[in-house]
Amino acid sequence: MSRMKALIYHGPGQFAVEERPRPEIKAPTDAIVKMTRTTICGTDLHILKGDVPSVAPGRILGHEGVGIIESVGAGVSGFQAGDHVLISCISSCGKCANCKKRMVSHCDQGGWILGNLIDGTQAESVRILVADNSLHAIPPGADEEALVMLSDILPTGFECGVLNGRVKPGDIVAIVGAGPVGLAALLTAQFYSPAEIIMVDVDENRLQVSQKLGATQVINASDGKAVERVMELTGKRGVDVAIEAVGLPSSFDTCQKIVAAGGHIANVGVHGKPVQLDLDTLWSHNITLTTGLVDTFTTPMLLKTAIAGKVAPKQLITHHFRFDEIMEAYDTFGHAKKECALKVIISNE
Ligand code: NAD
Ligand code: ZN
Repeated sequence: MSRMKALIYHGPGQFAVEERPRPEIKAPTDAIVKMTRTTICGTDLHILKGDVPSVAPGRILGHEGVGIIESVGAGVSGFQAGDHVLISCISSCGKCANCKKRMVSHCDQGGWILGNLIDGTQAESVRILVADNSLHAIPPGADEEALVMLSDILPTGFECGVLNGRVKPGDIVAIVGAGPVGLAALLTAQFYSPAEIIMVDVDENRLQVSQKLGATQVINASDGKAVERVMELTGKRGVDVAIEAVGLPSSFDTCQKIVAAGGHIANVGVHGKPVQLDLDTLWSHNITLTTGLVDTFTTPMLLKTAIAGKVAPKQLITHHFRFDEIMEAYDTFGHAKKECALKVIISNE
Protein backbone atom coordinates (compact mmCIF):
# COMPACT_ATOMS: atom_id res chain seq x y z
CA MET A 1 0.00 0.00 0.00
CA SER A 2 1.41 3.37 -0.89
CA ARG A 3 2.32 5.66 1.96
CA MET A 4 2.28 9.39 2.67
CA LYS A 5 3.56 11.85 5.23
CA ALA A 6 1.19 13.20 7.87
CA LEU A 7 1.26 15.20 11.11
CA ILE A 8 0.28 12.82 13.92
CA TYR A 9 -0.99 13.72 17.40
CA HIS A 10 0.41 11.46 20.13
CA GLY A 11 -1.24 12.95 23.22
CA PRO A 12 -0.84 16.30 25.00
CA GLY A 13 2.34 18.10 23.92
CA GLN A 14 3.43 15.27 21.60
CA PHE A 15 3.23 15.27 17.82
CA ALA A 16 5.41 14.31 14.88
CA VAL A 17 5.52 13.87 11.11
CA GLU A 18 5.23 10.19 10.26
CA GLU A 19 4.43 7.90 7.36
CA ARG A 20 0.90 6.57 7.12
CA PRO A 21 -0.99 4.52 4.52
CA ARG A 22 -2.68 6.72 1.92
CA PRO A 23 -6.41 7.04 2.58
CA GLU A 24 -8.80 5.00 0.46
CA ILE A 25 -12.48 5.26 -0.41
CA LYS A 26 -14.43 3.34 2.25
CA ALA A 27 -18.00 4.49 1.59
CA PRO A 28 -19.61 5.38 -1.77
CA THR A 29 -20.06 8.97 -0.58
CA ASP A 30 -16.33 9.48 0.15
CA ALA A 31 -13.78 11.43 -1.85
CA ILE A 32 -10.00 11.37 -1.56
CA VAL A 33 -8.46 14.82 -1.88
CA LYS A 34 -4.78 15.42 -2.59
CA MET A 35 -3.95 18.41 -0.41
CA THR A 36 -2.31 21.35 -2.14
CA ARG A 37 -2.49 23.77 0.80
CA THR A 38 -3.40 23.45 4.45
CA THR A 39 -2.95 25.52 7.59
CA ILE A 40 -2.92 25.32 11.39
CA CYS A 41 -5.82 26.49 13.57
CA GLY A 42 -5.91 27.83 17.14
CA THR A 43 -8.01 24.71 17.78
CA ASP A 44 -5.04 22.50 16.79
CA LEU A 45 -3.06 24.25 19.54
CA HIS A 46 -5.93 23.52 21.98
CA ILE A 47 -5.75 19.84 20.91
CA LEU A 48 -1.99 19.78 21.55
CA LYS A 49 -2.59 21.23 25.03
CA GLY A 50 -5.01 18.36 25.73
CA ASP A 51 -8.11 20.64 25.77
CA VAL A 52 -9.99 18.49 23.23
CA PRO A 53 -10.18 14.96 24.68
CA SER A 54 -12.15 13.58 21.71
CA VAL A 55 -8.91 13.59 19.69
CA ALA A 56 -7.26 10.20 20.22
CA PRO A 57 -3.52 9.64 20.01
CA GLY A 58 -2.56 8.50 16.50
CA ARG A 59 -4.88 10.99 14.80
CA ILE A 60 -3.73 13.01 11.76
CA LEU A 61 -4.54 16.65 12.66
CA GLY A 62 -5.93 19.43 10.46
CA HIS A 63 -9.40 20.50 9.37
CA GLU A 64 -8.60 23.20 6.81
CA GLY A 65 -7.28 23.29 3.27
CA VAL A 66 -7.72 23.10 -0.46
CA GLY A 67 -6.76 20.41 -2.93
CA ILE A 68 -7.50 18.37 -6.01
CA ILE A 69 -9.83 15.37 -5.97
CA GLU A 70 -7.95 12.12 -6.61
CA SER A 71 -10.93 9.78 -6.59
CA VAL A 72 -14.60 9.69 -5.61
CA GLY A 73 -16.93 6.93 -4.47
CA ALA A 74 -19.75 5.71 -6.73
CA GLY A 75 -22.30 7.75 -4.74
CA VAL A 76 -20.65 11.15 -5.23
CA SER A 77 -22.46 13.08 -7.95
CA GLY A 78 -21.27 16.67 -7.55
CA PHE A 79 -17.51 16.16 -7.92
CA GLN A 80 -15.08 14.10 -9.96
CA ALA A 81 -11.36 13.35 -10.03
CA GLY A 82 -9.37 16.44 -10.99
CA ASP A 83 -11.80 18.95 -9.44
CA HIS A 84 -10.25 21.80 -7.45
CA VAL A 85 -11.98 21.95 -4.07
CA LEU A 86 -12.18 23.78 -0.77
CA ILE A 87 -12.56 21.46 2.23
CA SER A 88 -15.05 22.57 4.86
CA CYS A 89 -13.92 21.98 8.45
CA ILE A 90 -17.42 20.57 8.98
CA SER A 91 -18.54 17.40 7.20
CA SER A 92 -22.29 16.91 6.82
CA CYS A 93 -24.76 14.47 5.30
CA GLY A 94 -27.44 17.08 4.56
CA LYS A 95 -30.15 14.55 5.42
CA CYS A 96 -30.29 14.05 9.19
CA ALA A 97 -32.53 16.09 11.50
CA ASN A 98 -29.74 18.44 12.60
CA CYS A 99 -28.59 19.05 9.00
CA LYS A 100 -32.19 19.86 8.05
CA LYS A 101 -32.25 22.43 10.87
CA ARG A 102 -29.11 23.94 9.27
CA MET A 103 -27.17 22.89 12.38
CA VAL A 104 -24.78 20.80 10.34
CA SER A 105 -22.04 21.08 12.94
CA HIS A 106 -24.10 18.47 14.80
CA CYS A 107 -24.71 16.21 11.77
CA ASP A 108 -25.33 12.59 12.83
CA GLN A 109 -22.55 11.33 10.55
CA GLY A 110 -20.37 14.42 10.41
CA GLY A 111 -19.91 17.71 12.20
CA TRP A 112 -16.39 18.63 13.21
CA ILE A 113 -14.81 15.21 12.67
CA LEU A 114 -11.81 16.08 10.46
CA GLY A 115 -8.59 16.08 12.44
CA ASN A 116 -10.72 15.22 15.47
CA LEU A 117 -12.62 11.91 15.15
CA ILE A 118 -11.19 10.99 11.73
CA ASP A 119 -7.85 11.73 10.09
CA GLY A 120 -7.44 15.31 8.91
CA THR A 121 -5.85 17.55 6.32
CA GLN A 122 -2.28 18.00 7.58
CA ALA A 123 -1.18 15.21 5.26
CA GLU A 124 -0.51 14.58 1.59
CA SER A 125 -4.07 13.28 1.08
CA VAL A 126 -7.27 13.12 3.10
CA ARG A 127 -10.50 11.12 2.98
CA ILE A 128 -13.55 13.39 3.03
CA LEU A 129 -16.87 11.91 4.16
CA VAL A 130 -20.11 12.79 2.35
CA ALA A 131 -18.05 14.68 -0.18
CA ASP A 132 -21.04 16.21 -2.00
CA ASN A 133 -21.88 18.24 1.12
CA SER A 134 -18.46 18.66 2.67
CA LEU A 135 -16.55 20.13 -0.28
CA HIS A 136 -16.98 23.34 -2.29
CA ALA A 137 -15.90 23.76 -5.92
CA ILE A 138 -13.21 26.39 -6.45
CA PRO A 139 -13.88 28.36 -9.63
CA PRO A 140 -11.06 28.58 -12.20
CA GLY A 141 -8.68 31.46 -11.60
CA ALA A 142 -9.51 31.87 -7.90
CA ASP A 143 -6.62 32.50 -5.51
CA GLU A 144 -6.50 29.17 -3.69
CA GLU A 145 -4.32 30.47 -0.88
CA ALA A 146 -6.88 33.07 0.14
CA LEU A 147 -9.58 30.39 0.09
CA VAL A 148 -7.79 28.28 2.72
CA MET A 149 -9.11 30.95 5.11
CA LEU A 150 -12.65 29.84 4.20
CA SER A 151 -12.35 26.25 5.50
CA ASP A 152 -12.83 27.40 9.06
CA ILE A 153 -11.83 30.85 10.29
CA LEU A 154 -13.93 33.06 8.02
CA PRO A 155 -17.18 31.11 8.52
CA THR A 156 -16.36 30.74 12.24
CA GLY A 157 -15.76 34.45 12.83
CA PHE A 158 -18.79 35.29 10.71
CA GLU A 159 -21.32 32.70 11.93
CA CYS A 160 -20.36 32.26 15.60
CA GLY A 161 -19.26 35.88 16.07
CA VAL A 162 -21.01 38.27 13.70
CA LEU A 163 -24.28 36.45 12.94
CA ASN A 164 -24.80 35.00 16.44
CA GLY A 165 -23.90 38.42 17.87
CA ARG A 166 -26.49 40.01 15.53
CA VAL A 167 -24.15 42.80 14.45
CA LYS A 168 -26.14 45.54 12.75
CA PRO A 169 -25.51 48.99 11.24
CA GLY A 170 -24.47 51.55 13.84
CA ASP A 171 -23.56 48.99 16.53
CA ILE A 172 -20.59 49.22 18.82
CA VAL A 173 -18.85 45.86 18.57
CA ALA A 174 -15.96 44.62 20.72
CA ILE A 175 -13.96 41.60 19.61
CA VAL A 176 -11.89 40.09 22.41
CA GLY A 177 -9.04 38.16 20.78
CA ALA A 178 -7.34 39.38 17.59
CA GLY A 179 -6.13 35.98 16.44
CA PRO A 180 -7.14 34.73 13.01
CA VAL A 181 -10.69 33.99 14.20
CA GLY A 182 -11.16 37.38 15.87
CA LEU A 183 -9.73 39.07 12.76
CA ALA A 184 -12.10 37.04 10.58
CA ALA A 185 -14.94 38.41 12.72
CA LEU A 186 -13.47 41.90 12.26
CA LEU A 187 -13.42 41.52 8.45
CA THR A 188 -16.92 40.08 8.17
CA ALA A 189 -18.53 42.38 10.78
CA GLN A 190 -17.89 45.15 8.26
CA PHE A 191 -20.50 43.59 5.92
CA TYR A 192 -22.98 45.23 8.33
CA SER A 193 -21.43 48.68 8.84
CA PRO A 194 -21.14 48.78 12.63
CA ALA A 195 -20.23 52.27 13.91
CA GLU A 196 -17.31 51.07 16.02
CA ILE A 197 -15.24 47.91 16.21
CA ILE A 198 -13.01 47.74 19.27
CA MET A 199 -10.36 45.00 19.20
CA VAL A 200 -8.92 43.72 22.48
CA ASP A 201 -5.78 41.56 22.64
CA VAL A 202 -2.50 41.32 24.53
CA ASP A 203 -0.41 41.15 21.35
CA GLU A 204 0.61 44.57 20.03
CA ASN A 205 1.35 43.27 16.52
CA ARG A 206 -2.12 41.75 16.22
CA LEU A 207 -3.65 45.03 17.39
CA GLN A 208 -1.73 46.89 14.69
CA VAL A 209 -3.00 44.42 12.08
CA SER A 210 -6.52 44.99 13.46
CA GLN A 211 -6.21 48.69 12.76
CA LYS A 212 -5.25 47.99 9.16
CA LEU A 213 -8.20 45.63 8.80
CA GLY A 214 -10.80 48.14 10.01
CA ALA A 215 -10.79 48.31 13.81
CA THR A 216 -11.76 51.80 15.00
CA GLN A 217 -10.15 51.32 18.43
CA VAL A 218 -7.65 48.83 19.81
CA ILE A 219 -7.01 48.00 23.46
CA ASN A 220 -4.01 46.13 24.83
CA ALA A 221 -5.40 44.01 27.69
CA SER A 222 -1.98 43.19 29.19
CA ASP A 223 -2.45 45.69 32.01
CA GLY A 224 -5.70 44.02 33.11
CA LYS A 225 -7.68 47.22 32.44
CA ALA A 226 -9.49 46.32 29.21
CA VAL A 227 -12.92 46.51 30.84
CA GLU A 228 -12.34 50.04 32.17
CA ARG A 229 -11.01 51.15 28.78
CA VAL A 230 -14.01 49.79 26.88
CA MET A 231 -16.40 51.42 29.38
CA GLU A 232 -14.59 54.78 28.97
CA LEU A 233 -14.76 54.51 25.18
CA THR A 234 -18.49 53.81 25.28
CA GLY A 235 -19.53 56.49 27.81
CA LYS A 236 -20.03 53.74 30.46
CA ARG A 237 -22.74 52.16 28.30
CA GLY A 238 -20.81 49.12 27.12
CA VAL A 239 -20.96 47.46 23.72
CA ASP A 240 -23.90 46.18 21.70
CA VAL A 241 -21.99 43.03 20.73
CA ALA A 242 -19.09 41.39 22.57
CA ILE A 243 -17.44 38.61 20.57
CA GLU A 244 -15.27 36.22 22.61
CA ALA A 245 -12.53 34.85 20.31
CA VAL A 246 -9.95 33.56 22.80
CA GLY A 247 -11.35 30.69 24.90
CA LEU A 248 -10.15 31.63 28.40
CA PRO A 249 -12.12 32.45 31.58
CA SER A 250 -10.52 35.93 31.66
CA SER A 251 -11.52 36.82 28.09
CA PHE A 252 -15.07 35.57 28.64
CA ASP A 253 -15.17 37.67 31.79
CA THR A 254 -14.17 40.76 29.80
CA CYS A 255 -17.11 40.13 27.47
CA GLN A 256 -19.68 39.76 30.24
CA LYS A 257 -18.45 42.95 31.92
CA ILE A 258 -18.55 45.13 28.77
CA VAL A 259 -21.87 44.04 27.25
CA ALA A 260 -24.47 46.84 27.26
CA ALA A 261 -28.04 46.30 28.40
CA GLY A 262 -29.85 44.57 25.55
CA GLY A 263 -26.55 43.45 24.03
CA HIS A 264 -25.23 40.13 22.86
CA ILE A 265 -22.27 38.03 23.94
CA ALA A 266 -21.23 35.71 21.13
CA ASN A 267 -18.79 33.10 22.36
CA VAL A 268 -16.52 31.69 19.67
CA GLY A 269 -13.50 30.50 21.68
CA VAL A 270 -12.99 26.83 22.52
CA HIS A 271 -12.91 26.64 26.31
CA GLY A 272 -10.96 24.02 28.24
CA LYS A 273 -12.22 25.18 31.65
CA PRO A 274 -15.58 26.32 33.07
CA VAL A 275 -16.16 30.07 33.42
CA GLN A 276 -18.10 32.07 35.96
CA LEU A 277 -21.31 33.59 34.60
CA ASP A 278 -22.19 36.81 36.51
CA LEU A 279 -25.95 36.27 36.57
CA ASP A 280 -26.20 38.46 39.66
CA THR A 281 -25.58 41.47 37.42
CA LEU A 282 -26.67 40.10 34.05
CA TRP A 283 -30.10 38.75 35.08
CA SER A 284 -31.69 42.17 34.55
CA HIS A 285 -29.51 43.20 31.64
CA ASN A 286 -31.63 41.74 28.79
CA ILE A 287 -28.62 40.17 27.17
CA THR A 288 -28.29 37.09 25.01
CA LEU A 289 -25.38 34.69 25.21
CA THR A 290 -24.72 32.40 22.28
CA THR A 291 -22.30 29.55 21.85
CA GLY A 292 -21.68 27.46 18.80
CA LEU A 293 -19.58 25.30 16.65
CA VAL A 294 -19.34 26.73 13.17
CA ASP A 295 -21.89 25.25 10.72
CA THR A 296 -20.14 26.58 7.57
CA PHE A 297 -23.52 27.22 5.93
CA THR A 298 -22.18 30.65 4.90
CA THR A 299 -19.17 29.25 3.00
CA PRO A 300 -20.81 29.59 -0.46
CA MET A 301 -21.59 33.25 0.30
CA LEU A 302 -18.07 33.85 1.63
CA LEU A 303 -16.60 32.22 -1.50
CA LYS A 304 -18.55 34.66 -3.67
CA THR A 305 -17.58 37.70 -1.60
CA ALA A 306 -13.92 36.67 -1.45
CA ILE A 307 -13.73 36.01 -5.20
CA ALA A 308 -15.45 39.36 -5.85
CA GLY A 309 -12.90 41.11 -3.62
CA LYS A 310 -15.54 42.31 -1.11
CA VAL A 311 -13.60 40.63 1.68
CA ALA A 312 -9.85 39.98 1.52
CA PRO A 313 -8.98 37.01 3.74
CA LYS A 314 -5.48 36.75 2.26
CA GLN A 315 -4.49 39.58 4.61
CA LEU A 316 -4.54 37.01 7.43
CA ILE A 317 -1.65 34.99 5.94
CA THR A 318 1.78 35.86 7.33
CA HIS A 319 3.99 32.80 6.78
CA HIS A 320 4.56 30.10 4.17
CA PHE A 321 6.04 26.64 4.66
CA ARG A 322 6.42 23.47 2.63
CA PHE A 323 4.81 20.33 4.03
CA ASP A 324 8.19 18.93 5.08
CA GLU A 325 8.58 22.05 7.25
CA ILE A 326 5.28 21.58 9.11
CA MET A 327 6.96 21.16 12.53
CA GLU A 328 8.54 24.57 11.97
CA ALA A 329 5.13 25.92 10.95
CA TYR A 330 3.71 24.68 14.29
CA ASP A 331 6.57 26.28 16.12
CA THR A 332 5.96 29.62 14.39
CA PHE A 333 2.17 29.50 14.90
CA GLY A 334 2.64 28.32 18.49
CA HIS A 335 4.86 31.35 19.18
CA ALA A 336 2.64 33.70 17.24
CA LYS A 337 3.44 36.73 19.36
CA LYS A 338 7.19 36.43 19.02
CA GLU A 339 6.96 35.50 15.33
CA CYS A 340 4.27 38.12 14.45
CA ALA A 341 2.32 35.21 12.97
CA LEU A 342 -1.33 34.98 11.96
CA LYS A 343 -2.24 32.21 9.54
CA VAL A 344 0.52 30.03 8.14
CA ILE A 345 0.14 28.35 4.76
CA ILE A 346 1.60 24.87 4.34
CA SER A 347 2.02 23.88 0.68
CA ASN A 348 2.37 20.41 -0.75
CA GLU A 349 3.74 21.54 -4.08
P1 NAD B 1 -5.38 32.31 18.60
O1 NAD B 1 -4.88 31.55 19.77
O2 NAD B 1 -4.47 32.58 17.45
O3 NAD B 1 -5.96 33.74 19.06
C1 NAD B 1 -6.34 34.05 20.35
C2 NAD B 1 -5.92 35.49 20.64
O4 NAD B 1 -6.35 35.84 21.96
C3 NAD B 1 -4.41 35.72 20.61
O5 NAD B 1 -4.11 36.78 19.71
C4 NAD B 1 -4.05 36.09 22.07
O6 NAD B 1 -3.00 37.02 22.15
C5 NAD B 1 -5.37 36.67 22.55
N1 NAD B 1 -5.56 36.66 24.00
C6 NAD B 1 -5.11 35.79 24.92
N2 NAD B 1 -5.54 36.13 26.16
C7 NAD B 1 -6.30 37.24 26.00
C8 NAD B 1 -7.04 38.05 26.89
N3 NAD B 1 -7.11 37.77 28.20
N4 NAD B 1 -7.72 39.10 26.38
C9 NAD B 1 -7.68 39.38 25.06
N5 NAD B 1 -7.01 38.64 24.17
C10 NAD B 1 -6.33 37.57 24.63
O7 NAD B 1 -6.65 31.50 18.09
P2 NAD B 1 -7.63 31.66 16.83
O8 NAD B 1 -7.20 30.71 15.76
O9 NAD B 1 -7.85 33.08 16.48
O10 NAD B 1 -8.96 31.06 17.47
C11 NAD B 1 -9.63 31.77 18.51
C12 NAD B 1 -10.52 30.83 19.29
O11 NAD B 1 -11.58 30.35 18.45
C13 NAD B 1 -9.78 29.58 19.79
O12 NAD B 1 -10.25 29.28 21.10
C14 NAD B 1 -10.23 28.54 18.79
O13 NAD B 1 -10.11 27.23 19.32
C15 NAD B 1 -11.66 28.94 18.59
N6 NAD B 1 -12.36 28.37 17.44
C16 NAD B 1 -13.69 28.10 17.60
C17 NAD B 1 -14.42 27.56 16.57
C18 NAD B 1 -15.88 27.30 16.75
O14 NAD B 1 -16.48 26.63 15.90
N7 NAD B 1 -16.52 27.81 17.79
C19 NAD B 1 -13.81 27.29 15.34
C20 NAD B 1 -12.46 27.61 15.18
C21 NAD B 1 -11.74 28.15 16.24
ZN1 ZN C 1 -10.41 25.34 13.15
